[in-house]
Formats: sequence, structure tokens, C-alpha cells
Amino acid sequence: MDHDLQIENQYLRRQLQSLLDEARHNEEKMRRFDRLERRLIGAHTPADLVRIILQDYRVVFELDAVGLLLVDPEYEIARMLDAELKDRSKAASLVFLENSTVLEDFYGSAPLPYLGACHTPRHVDLVGTMPVGIASVAMLPLQRQGEVIGSLNLGSFKADRFSSDSATDFLERLAAIVAISLENTLNHERLKQIGLTDPLTGINNRRYFEHRCLEEINFAQRHDLPLSCMFLDLDKFKRINDSLGHQAGDEVLRHIAAKIKGQLRASDVLARYGGEEFVVLLPQANLRHAAEVAERTRASIESELFEPLPGEAVPLTISIGVAQLPAGPEGGDASLRIRDLIAAADAALYQAKEGGRNRVVCAA
Ligand code: GH3
Ligand code: MG
Ligand code: MG
Repeated sequence: MDHDLQIENQYLRRQLQSLLDEARHNEEKMRRFDRLERRLIGAHTPADLVRIILQDYRVVFELDAVGLLLVDPEYEIARMLDAELKDRSKAASLVFLENSTVLEDFYGSAPLPYLGACHTPRHVDLVGTMPVGIASVAMLPLQRQGEVIGSLNLGSFKADRFSSDSATDFLERLAAIVAISLENTLNHERLKQIGLTDPLTGINNRRYFEHRCLEEINFAQRHDLPLSCMFLDLDKFKRINDSLGHQAGDEVLRHIAAKIKGQLRASDVLARYGGEEFVVLLPQANLRHAAEVAERTRASIESELFEPLPGEAVPLTISIGVAQLPAGPEGGDASLRIRDLIAAADAALYQAKEGGRNRVVCAA
């Protein structure tokens, strides 16, 4: 009897130990998940978020693959993730969809996670992000206001990692947090872009320009590099508004912004400074180089008739003032030096106008 009790006791102890182990394991899993959840919510940019999902999540949860499909009809997200996509290893697990048809076909009207075998004909379109050999997947619909906006796919080489009888509450919660975090970072990015771009022409606005000026002047100062500035103003622009109307005037402004941009390097900073005035900062360009760019720009605008309205071709010309940042004292006030640089280019522009317009004048 005593002996039987002892055996039963041992058996119970072992069971208790195994329950404790499992509880500890779950607790540890929850802790890891909790940490990751905080990082998802705290992601600053869509790129940060994608990095956490595709890399960190895979490592922390010992997954063999993580794929993300996002509905992105206007390439908006793709553009925001441009730098990230250049890394081909990451790009392979990130897929953009032109519309939500594939997702709707797969998830149906009441989107729920799918857990089970990977390669079945039913979801061949959705597992493009999964490498060969993945045996089981969890496919989680990402939703916003009842619409499916993407799918997060988790994959394992083990066939029993995800199966239809596994609990899904944990994964549903993950999908909800990913969807909300994604929407947050996208909105944050959109706000940033609205605040720094000119809505009419799509180029940078003055606020962005002033911010970049400070960075560029500090860089030029530190590395002893030249920095030049062009100030551009359309000639007799008011006449276009007066004769063809404001909308035609707006078309002209868009056209001019694109023409100027076409003459610049990627590192030059172009902005709409106000009305029909544009400004360009040319890092690592001296006055002679900047004057060449200005002359090319002037000539390219003059050489072409533009039709802001069908059948209404108008000749366009632009006047440009150019100045180079003079060598300054070490540690001088960068914002004062920028103000002087812009003022010098503006004064040269004034001379170009006085001299008859459609010309480039360099500051003395
Ligand atoms: P100048 O050769 O001396 O520069 O002559 P201008 O007519 O270009 O210069 P002025 O400063 O007299 O007129 C600028 C005009 O630009 C006046 C204004 O109505 C117009 N303008 C400013 N912003 C916009 C805009 O966003 N859209 C349109 N269509 N017109 C604008
Ligand atoms: Mg003006
Ligand atoms: Mg003008």
C-alpha cells in the first residue's frame, strides 16, 4: 500500500513538474510576444515596422519564414519602403498587390486565420513569399475597418507547427496589432510628406528647404566643400494667369518644376519657395558649376513652347540668380550664413530681371 502511494506520488510530482514546465514555457513565450508587441506599436516608420515583422519576429519565434503581402494599388507603400526594397533578401518576402481580389478570394467575407498545410491549390497565389520546403503556414488576414489590407504569412519546415486545431487567439491578436501599427506608421509618413511637400507641384516646400539648408551648410563647412544656390523666378507669369486663367497658370508651375528638376542631380535640393519662385541648393558645386546648371535650365525652358490648355501654346522664360556660399568662420551661425546665401542669390535674380529677364546672373 505504502509502495503504491509512493508510486502515485512520484507520478503526480512528474505531472506537476511537466505542467509547471509548460506554464513557464508559455510565460516565456508571452514575455517575448509582449516585448515584440511593444516594438510593433512603437515603430516609427513603415520601414521599421516591416523590419520588425520580417526579421525580428522570425528570429524571436523561431519561424522558418515570414512573408508579408500588402494591398498597394498606387505604389504608395512601395515608394515609402524604397530603400528597404533594395535589399533583395527582404524584398523577396514582401509582396505588393494591385488590389485585394486575391485576398478576398482566399479569406472570404469573414476573414479568419488559416493554419495548416502550405502548398494547396487553394492558396497558391498567397504563398509566393514562402521558400521551398515550408510545410505548414499560418496565414493571418490584416484588416482595417472590415477590409482586408494584407496578409501576414508565417511558415515552418515542420508540418505540425501550424494545424487547423491550433488555438488562433494569440495569432489573431498579432494580426490586429500589425494592422494597426502599419496604419499608424503609414499615416505618420503621409503627414510628414504633406508637411514637407508643395501640394501643387509635388516638389519640396520652403520648410523642407530651410531644414535641408542647415544640414547642407554644416556638411559643406565640416568638409570644406563648395555650396551654391540658385533662385529662379518665372518671367511675366502674371500674364499667363490673366490671359488663360489660374488653372493654366498652375499647369505652367507644374511644368516648370519638372523642367528644373530635369536638370539637377539627385543630391541637389529643389523647392518651391513661394508663388512662381523656385530655389535650388547645389551641394559640392562652385559658382561656375552652378551657373552652368542655371544656364542649361534657362535654355531648356526657353526652347520649348508649353501648352497648358489644348491649342494654347505659350512661350515661357525664367530669370535666375546664382550665388556661392563664401568661406565662413569656423563654427559660425549656420542659419545666418544660409540667409546671406539666399539673399545673395535673390539679389542676383533681381539684377537678371532688371537686365531684361530670361537670363542668368551670378552674384559678385
Ligand atoms: P516678373 O517677370 O517680374 O517676375 O513678373 P511676374 O508676373 O512673374 O511677377 P509677379 O510677382 O507680378 O506675379 C507673380 C504672379 O504669380 C502673381 C500671382 O497671381 C501668381 N501666382 C502665385 N502663386 C500662384 C499659384 O499657385 N498658381 C497660379 N496660377 N498663380 C500663382
Ligand atoms: Mg516673383
Ligand atoms: Mg515672376
